[in-house]
Amino acid sequence: MRNTHATELLFDLSQPGRRAAQFPTSDVPDRPLGDMIPDAFRRASHDHSLPELTESDVIRHFLNLSTLNMSVDTHFYPLGSCTMKYNPKRHERMARLPGMVDLHPYQRICDQQGMLRLLHDMQEMLAEIAGLPAVSLQPAAGAQGELAALLVASAWFRSRGETRTRVIFPSSAHGTNPASAAIAGFECVQLENTSDGLVDLDELETQLDDQTAVFMITNPNTLGLFETQIESIAARVHEVGGLVYIDGANMNAIMGVTRPGDFGGDMMHFNVHKTFTGPHGAGGPGAGPIAVRSELAEFLPGPVVTRITDDDGQPHFELETPSRSIGRVRSFFGNVGILLRGYCYLRTLGREGVREAARHAVLNANYLKALLADLLPAPFGQHCMHEFVGSASNLKDDRGITAMDVAKRLLDFGFHAPTIYFPLVVPEAMMIEPTETESKATLDAFAATLHEIAEEDLEFLHQAPHAAPVSRPNDVQAARQPILLWSPDDDTAEDV
Ligand SMILES: *Cc1c(COP(=O)(O)O)cnc(C)c1O
Repeated sequence: MRNTHATELLFDLSQPGRRAAQFPTSDVPDRPLGDMIPDAFRRASHDHSLPELTESDVIRHFLNLSTLNMSVDTHFYPLGSCTMKYNPKRHERMARLPGMVDLHPYQRICDQQGMLRLLHDMQEMLAEIAGLPAVSLQPAAGAQGELAALLVASAWFRSRGETRTRVIFPSSAHGTNPASAAIAGFECVQLENTSDGLVDLDELETQLDDQTAVFMITNPNTLGLFETQIESIAARVHEVGGLVYIDGANMNAIMGVTRPGDFGGDMMHFNVHKTFTGPHGAGGPGAGPIAVRSELAEFLPGPVVTRITDDDGQPHFELETPSRSIGRVRSFFGNVGILLRGYCYLRTLGREGVREAARHAVLNANYLKALLADLLPAPFGQHCMHEFVGSASNLKDDRGITAMDVAKRLLDFGFHAPTIYFPLVVPEAMMIEPTETESKATLDAFAATLHEIAEEDLEFLHQAPHAAPVSRPNDVQAARQPILLWSPDDDTAEDV
């Protein structure tokens, strides 16, 4: 199964005389290169020849390369925390309509009314799902949404003559939370979880004071558990004058069912590329709109789209920068291509459909959790939301099989690996998020494969994957050895 051809370079495939096209004989006199380029500018020692290939050589080469990656379109992709749900192709078609892609943001506002209306409606739909009235579509990713919202919080505190310094988050928080807080100039305070994987209220109590600016929390949290005490947590944060930030990356579990604004959140971000089927696209583009309470609205990054009713009763749409805006965080109106896909998703499903999708995501995760209860028991929580974190500790203790071995071996069976070794509070963590777009048959096949892997030869598993073009470049084993590219004692290159 190893696809060695695809890892060869075009230079390796080259055969003298092969051609993809034939040109008529040149009627321009053939002058030696030396006549045209002065000696000083020529690297005479180099072989400048290009690979010689037929068109089918080239097409096969690139098409084969394009199949080496796993994707949501080719494989089950249960990468916990990332919500790798299927991206409907109809959304791609909509986002590519000439009226969408040929529009230029420098065109006159009156020529952009259709797009502005669409973005305005997207703001409204997100506000409704958030339970928070003011939305900015500007941020280009969840992490940028976090940063933008924390800058909004900072500006709000300053406007009240306060300089609060601390942002608190639980230890299961996504790494972007402390990173955003630090970039926004706050001091980061981390809370340990309770033994059932939730925020420890007593510990939170010891950290809350008049320096608390924001409490950041993902709900459901990174263990796939709903923070049932969220209302009391929010109330305590508000009592000391702080704000509650809801990291909305896990909205897939609760969209249309409960709302951050209703359970105490003052601000949140959405990951349109997770929850609303925008493709993830190798680290970008994404869209991380933020929603905030009305008292924070005037600080939002701009522009935002506003709807105005003309004298004759007709609506039209304008771009407006909120009065005390923190400024722009992205060019123009944000990542419109991704927002359009999210818009299509929400309009296609409607209120009831969105709720149904969340319910299915939770059902699928609980079904898979039950199928794997013997093999990868989840130390936290009896039932989960849209994802669960199982532990391969038993496999490791009984047979020496690590989460890494299982993850690598899954690739041979055509399954993308779940997120592993995160969150850190679970040893040998395997964080599995099936999403609502997978069938029972796929979930059954995935669980059966995991059970099969657990019976395989240990050495064989340590060497996995066996069918992938590259084996383990980031193996924990290898990482323990110092990797020397160059040794200071002898200046020859060493093998890695
Ligand atoms: C993905 C994720 C983020 C960051 O979002 P990006 O769009 O990748 O920047 C933040 N928090 C959680 C819980 C996430 O899963």
